[in-house]
Amino acid sequence: MKDSKKDIRALTKEQLRDFFVKEGDKAFRGNQVYEWLWSKSAHSFDEMTNISKETRDKLDAHFVINHIEVDSMQKSSDGTIKNAVKLHDGLVVESVLIPTENRTTACVSSQVGCSLDCKFCATARLKRMRNLNPDEIFDQVVAIDKESRLYHNKPLSNIVFMGMGEPLMNYNNVLKAIDKITSPEGLGMSPKRIVVSTSGVPKMIKKMADEEVKFKLAVSLHSAIDEVRSKIMPFNENFPLKDLREALEYWYAKTKNRITYEYVVWRGINDRKKDVEALIDFCKFAPSKVNLIEYNPIDDGEFQQASEEALNMYINMLEANNITVTVRRSRGKDIDAACGQLANKNQ
Ligand code: SAH
Repeated sequence: MKDSKKDIRALTKEQLRDFFVKEGDKAFRGNQVYEWLWSKSAHSFDEMTNISKETRDKLDAHFVINHIEVDSMQKSSDGTIKNAVKLHDGLVVESVLIPTENRTTACVSSQVGCSLDCKFCATARLKRMRNLNPDEIFDQVVAIDKESRLYHNKPLSNIVFMGMGEPLMNYNNVLKAIDKITSPEGLGMSPKRIVVSTSGVPKMIKKMADEEVKFKLAVSLHSAIDEVRSKIMPFNENFPLKDLREALEYWYAKTKNRITYEYVVWRGINDRKKDVEALIDFCKFAPSKVNLIEYNPIDDGEFQQASEEALNMYINMLEANNITVTVRRSRGKDIDAACGQLANKNQ
């Protein structure tokens, strides 16, 4: 019986209002229930105290409220928290809370496993099992917000889609989740505090630009030379840099939003002067910023963090070309919570 019931959070507010009208009730009831589901995160119909028992029973007969459960929580010595999140069908994803002095950031997953095949990323080895639903993405944020309040005495301030999965390969659900996160009926967070990070799916970047989204875009570039990028991110064969560049140009023309490039420098892979030159050239067509990320080793040593000299060469050359560059230290490494380390290791 339970299986034949629909997940109520798959319904839009309009659909929920229509349901009540069809049942001979007021459309307004739909708004009330919607608020319970999204801004009050109700896990059961019985919690909806301003809804009559009769109506709650009716809802119960038609719908379920699927929700996630934080299965286990690990705390890093640097304050980072990693959640293993169990979905209604038993699959698990991970999400991370990263506290810094001025902000607390949630790093959330968009897929179980990942559609892509980046050689340096632990999640890629899991393959993609399924896309997350909007409510499953939303719930990760709610869970982390609670932990932020509990352990750091402040609400969550930022969200990055840098957990498991490629957000632009689950485009509709990610956008629906962001809609809920930013709408006053959901969490009311500013879209300016949300970053969607992508390996670069040109068609979807253009679509996002057309829809005039308000969140920020980060692109995991790692190399601006096709030959090198295809080696470490094989899907680059299908989405070559020329197409990515054209899509990003389009993005900038439409949104006027600066692009952040995420970039790891590896020994013997992209640590030459010509790699930096290619990056500088790639950064020229739109205002951009380069975020140099520390490499988090995932195994056998095929990839190794480049030398200090190589990193300094990147920093000096980028700065000499007026390109903003930041260096991001890893967080939560001791609990496998850092970029590219999310792989459900404890499951
Ligand atoms: N699929 C999306 C989001 C998930 S990855 C994307 O590619 O952007 C989040 C970031 O972590 C990306 O910039 C990715 O390139 C980086 N990353 C992956 N594996 C890593 C590793 N082992 N060390 C450091 N960063 C890594």
